[in-house]
Amino acid sequence: MRLTKLELHGFKSFADPVFLTFEPGATAIVGPNGCGKSNVSDAVRWVLGEQRARLLRGGKMEDVIFQGSSARRATNVAEVSLHFENSDGMLPVPFQEVVITRRLSRSGESEYFLNRAPCRLRDIHDLVRGTGLGADSGVVIESKMIDALLSDRPDDRRELFEEAAGVGLYRDRRRTTERQLEATSGDLVRIDDLTSEVQ
Ligand code: ATP
Repeated sequence: MRLTKLELHGFKSFADPVFLTFEPGATAIVGPNGCGKSNVSDAVRWVLGEQRARLLRGGKMEDVIFQGSSARRATNVAEVSLHFENSDGMLPVPFQEVVITRRLSRSGESEYFLNRAPCRLRDIHDLVRGTGLGADSGVVIESKMIDALLSDRPDDRRELFEEAAGVGLYRDRRRTTERQLEATSGDLVRIDDLTSEVQ
């Protein structure tokens, strides 16, 4: 699996459609201060389902939409698409090329697409999490996060490594299943009580 292309339209400083192609071996984005390098990494994080505006360097989610400049009016929609080459099948869908799209309008309407077909945020999370690309996997690391990582408790650090290794998905599923088992055990005890009352 490899990130091949990023399409941005109306996202932060990218008012007009921009297509970034990542050839094999590309390891860095360089450019003058303020040209939008961090906005590119914000876009990657956003399309992968990030819900915390703070981590996208904004106060509210609407801040990702191009807010206008002296030269042009604000846009009403932000849209980002991330293209992956998936010939190794690491993303668990039967497509050689996978395109994940997120769109947000100023009216608050939020949409997700998988290969241009509408889907739920949960589908995106499930698709990328097992690969270590999930929102909490550390696929995008800011300098602040490195400080936090160094001062975190060992358990918190372990969670980050588990996410990056793709284990987090299974840990969460296990927690959900344990909660369901607990609820079912409670129900069984209640049924026993009712049965003995009736007898
Ligand atoms: P540096 O090298 O200094 O870290 P950078 O290349 O990473 O800079 P970014 O932080 O990605 O630059 O981009 C900053 C620019 O993006 C600023 O000019 C800011 O005004 C602009 N910007 C951020 N959000 C929006 C928005 N919603 N609409 C328009 N412009 C925006």
